[in-house]
Amino acid sequence: MTLPACSRLLGVPRFSIWVATPPMNLLLLSRLLGTLGAQRWGSGPMGRRGLFLGALCWALGAAHPLQAAPTEAPASEAHAVNTHATDAHAANTHATSGQTQLLWLGQSAVRLTTPGGKVILVDPFLTQNPKTPPPYKNLEALGKIDLILVTHAHGDHLGDGPELAKKRHIPLIGSAGLDQSLVDLGVLPAELAPRMDKSGTITPLGEGIRITMVHAEHSSALEWLNPVTHKTETHVGGEPVGFIIEVENGFKVWIMGDTGLFSDMKFIADYYRPDLVLMPIGGHYTMDPKDAAYAVRYWIHPRLVLPYHYGTFPVLTGTPEEFIRAIGPSRTKVLEAKPGDTLTF
Ligand SMILES: [Zn+2]
Repeated sequence: MTLPACSRLLGVPRFSIWVATPPMNLLLLSRLLGTLGAQRWGSGPMGRRGLFLGALCWALGAAHPLQAAPTEAPASEAHAVNTHATDAHAANTHATSGQTQLLWLGQSAVRLTTPGGKVILVDPFLTQNPKTPPPYKNLEALGKIDLILVTHAHGDHLGDGPELAKKRHIPLIGSAGLDQSLVDLGVLPAELAPRMDKSGTITPLGEGIRITMVHAEHSSALEWLNPVTHKTETHVGGEPVGFIIEVENGFKVWIMGDTGLFSDMKFIADYYRPDLVLMPIGGHYTMDPKDAAYAVRYWIHPRLVLPYHYGTFPVLTGTPEEFIRAIGPSRTKVLEAKPGDTLTF
């Protein structure tokens, strides 16, 4: 059924019909059309007729989505572009094109370039990362970086973060316990290790980019090689976390970090409404494909998912194919990428 036909049938503005189409929920529909029906025909049988016709339109709209219903913002479309070694610098020269670019560098390392041209590097495990394309092991090839985020203290996430923070003189943000240990051990000066914690939202790159730290179900001991004794020591690494990053045009990415299943994934999805979720699927230390698929199907219902943290080491056996199979029929689009690919949103 077309939008104008539905609008004529009910005798209500087209906008009202659009609001009542999927994905708006049925409760809202019932209340809206009940009110409209009562206004037009009174609260008697005609009002009930309005409600009935509204429900009928909704059902038809669900079967054949109304042409005018913008069920997805154009920005949700993603495509993968191979980013070759020599393109490393060029990759973020499109930065102010109004799009969000996500360069996956293997394991959990990603470089996010916002529509306004800010560059956020997350979990920069690069020089020792078997999956990082060789050109990016040269840290200079990363181009401009404005901020580093680290989900937890493990080496495959903290990685080259401290070195990059010092070389570029940019802040490295992890949970308060991790950053405090980095300062106490003399790894970073305090001005490059600002503290924050879960549920906090910060805007270090300006009001247009909001970064919220959220829960992750994992561990975060900091293994540190003492330069005097040459022995490895274990220190407090704070809580493991994920990040919700909202960029200038409202696009939201949930970078989960390393995590097992936890039921507040549903709360985080409901509350922050991420457009894209980066989910670990390798298993052994984190969710495996079956776990991650459960979160997608029953708790998060994301429009876009990028599986990561798999295949880097032999124990991380989960694969995107298993993940896709475990999700089954779904409106969630699983993005397929390989290290070195840039996804554009
Ligand atoms: Zn990890």
